[in-house]
Amino acid sequence: MSSLELSGMDLGQLRQQMLEWQQPAYRAGQLYGWIYKSLVADYSAMHNLPAGLRAQLAASASWPLLQVVETLDAADGSSTKALLRAADGQTIETVILRYPERNTVCISSQVGCALGCVLCATGQAGFIRDLSAGEMVAQVLYAARALRQEGRQLTNVVLMGMGEPLLNYEAACQALNIIMDPAGLGMGARRITLSTAGVVPGIRRLAEDNLGIKLAISLHAPNDTLRAQLIPLNRKYPLASVIAAVHEFISKTSRRVTFEYVMVDGINDSPALAYETAELLRGLFCHVNLIGLYPTERSAWRGSSDEAILDFQAVLLEARIPTTIRVRRGEEITGGCGQLRFRELSDDDD
Ligand code: SF4
Repeated sequence: MSSLELSGMDLGQLRQQMLEWQQPAYRAGQLYGWIYKSLVADYSAMHNLPAGLRAQLAASASWPLLQVVETLDAADGSSTKALLRAADGQTIETVILRYPERNTVCISSQVGCALGCVLCATGQAGFIRDLSAGEMVAQVLYAARALRQEGRQLTNVVLMGMGEPLLNYEAACQALNIIMDPAGLGMGARRITLSTAGVVPGIRRLAEDNLGIKLAISLHAPNDTLRAQLIPLNRKYPLASVIAAVHEFISKTSRRVTFEYVMVDGINDSPALAYETAELLRGLFCHVNLIGLYPTERSAWRGSSDEAILDFQAVLLEARIPTTIRVRRGEEITGGCGQLRFRELSDDDD
């Protein structure tokens, strides 16, 4: 089986590969251009590469690295969820979100996830393996290609799909460096957001490395008792340690941090919890996103009412915490982290 992952290699590594194949180093730049500027999905289209090199590539590197198994489009066209298959048969989800002013891809960082957040289908299905840097970049390339075919341009990347990116740190950073390389896709760091359930050492490392990207934290509750029920990782890294790491991130990067708060009817949406959240975040350079829970077939929980979400927002705004209510997108295409793959697994089980 071909083992080289072109989309996991930066330009320097591609040059090295060309030298190993007795090719001139400039071939690496040409190949890089085909991959990241022309976004081609087929070696035969790389017409300025000699036939011998194309044959060598075809024999050594699967391209594209991920195969599309299934896509589901929201009825209003605002989002597309794709199930992609890796070379070893594992499947992951990638979601394209179209907005009037930007087009975002939400990529996965692992197959499954070990963290078991109760609001998440991926978390309920368990961990299988880390994704490679090449597999993460391949998701971005898939979205860039799909959007270009529609006459659109990919503008933003979020690591918010299946998996916890800070538990796959090296591969995620390698992928981000490739995505940001001006010689390739040239995605600006400000257009990239990494979302974590609160892996404190990873947040600290990200602060230290200061890649310039944005950080989002899944909050979902303002106290340890409730948060640990929703995000079991909170038992290992309680809220005080997460907030301390966020302070460190802000002071080292000067970047505002986003807190994601998925609102569940009768669970975490009371006015008392809104006041507690305001106290927790008061004075922090942050922004809060309130998101109604995506209903799933396997849970009796429902998203909060519009009224409850508006009331919660009002308390945070009163405390001068910028707070946005995020519109749920693509619910009818089984929106929400990990649910498409979960459905396929369920279908397989039937
Ligand atoms: S929400 Fe994210 S971190 Fe939590 S279980 Fe799901 S994929 Fe893992």
